[in-house]
Amino acid sequence: MPGLGNGKIVPKGYFITDECISCGKCAQVCPQNAIATGSPSIIRQEHCLHCGNCFEHCPVSAIRRN
Ligand code: SF4
Ligand code: SF4
Repeated sequence: MPGLGNGKIVPKGYFITDECISCGKCAQVCPQNAIATGSPSIIRQEHCLHCGNCFEHCPVSAIRRN
């Protein structure tokens, strides 16, 4: 895996874990409409601006940053 194990933390984006309860909140707050609600919901990385809105609004903290 590129970027792992090199001793540096490089911000690369947001992703949704399977802790997602498919509430749709993240999709509602995404300015880019980059999130497809599902189980789990998915961030379409090519549209993501890394604004962090989804991350801040997820009620179960299912969204992580890497
Ligand atoms: S970080 Fe911002 S642009 Fe990216 S998916 Fe979350 S809300 Fe949308
Ligand atoms: S806000 Fe969190 S729990 Fe709700 S759909 Fe998005 S990732 Fe899933």
